[in-house]
Amino acid sequence: MGRHFLQIPGPTNCPDEVLRAISAPTIDHRGPTFAALGTRVLEKIKPVFGTTNPVVIYPASGTGAWEAALVNTLSPGDKVLCFETGHFATLWQSMALELGLEVEMVAGDWRHGVDTDAVAAHLGADTAHEIKAVCAVHNETSTGVTSRIGDVRAAMDSVDHPALLLVDTISSLGSIDYRHDEWKVDVTVAGSQKGLMLPPGLSFNAVSDKALEAHRTAGMKRSFWDWTPILAANEKGMWPYTPATNLLYGLEVALDMLADEGLENVFARHQRWARATRAAVEAWGLEILCLDEREHSGVLTAVVMPEGHDADALRALILERFDMSLGAGLTRLAGRVFRIGHLGHFEDLSLVGTLGGVEMGLGLAGVPFTPGGVQAALAVLQED
Ligand SMILES: *Cc1c(COP(=O)(O)O)cnc(C)c1O
Repeated sequence: MGRHFLQIPGPTNCPDEVLRAISAPTIDHRGPTFAALGTRVLEKIKPVFGTTNPVVIYPASGTGAWEAALVNTLSPGDKVLCFETGHFATLWQSMALELGLEVEMVAGDWRHGVDTDAVAAHLGADTAHEIKAVCAVHNETSTGVTSRIGDVRAAMDSVDHPALLLVDTISSLGSIDYRHDEWKVDVTVAGSQKGLMLPPGLSFNAVSDKALEAHRTAGMKRSFWDWTPILAANEKGMWPYTPATNLLYGLEVALDMLADEGLENVFARHQRWARATRAAVEAWGLEILCLDEREHSGVLTAVVMPEGHDADALRALILERFDMSLGAGLTRLAGRVFRIGHLGHFEDLSLVGTLGGVEMGLGLAGVPFTPGGVQAALAVLQED
């Protein structure tokens, strides 16, 4: 009985208004009603990225939009600079290699964001301008670390390097402050199922003028992901193939909700939940994975398990006893961390319930901890 607590950092809970919109009858994707919807969502999506440029919408998971960013802007053998900030950055890097790009990988400890000094050092040393793109994950969902993309841009500018800047915002868009135009990002990759409060199934590329220019001569093979026919069809609110009609109904509702609330307020409430969650973790005497005060994620908190205790056993117990799903540790972090998602359709009392479930789970699993985390979180929520 009661509702399932889906507290993984994506897919997230969807507002009822969004689910109702998606359940409307499917319409003719070549008819005038659809064209009007397409035109509206293509406009309404722009402010969420902080752009006035086009945003390409794919009926695909975020992984598809990663591929689209690479194949639309680069040529076989081009060099890309990647940063090992965690599981997702590593996957994107592997994809680049599989697609025939050359990767310069800056190693990382999975507890910090993109090292901006390394950005300047690697690009500064590349006087021949062989590096064609810098790939960065804004919010590393596997670690709960948010990279400072504005500072990455400043580091690129400090050495006057012409590489494109490609940024994954799959788990941050619509939840953490992000500025595609201001930070001169060339392709921003996003997905529907995290901050945008939709089910999985849509993904996005916001594109700069410089990215569109690179696209004209980019030699990588592409067909489904090709921006050109999509942007042409988008002029009339259409797609060259069947778009995810019903998800687009939901997208319009979600975008209206974000616009009505105001993005600043949306960002602030996520940071507040993150502060309350960290207060709980600190009171429990457990360790937060993120090590840099400037980089704590607003949308999830990754908690390190004490030595000798298995995070997956804790998660299984919490699922069994309290019907709550928490995020698993991924690859290198498997069993060592659990992740608390505090994004999507969410509110203070959901956070209190989430932290209550974790605190009870810690006790039942015999993990050494100090009770009182929920109380500490309540204090933050009451003051702030
Ligand atoms: C979820 C996520 C992905 C993968 O997106 P899919 O929709 O599962 O393909 C990539 N990067 C980040 C940062 C993510 O959070």
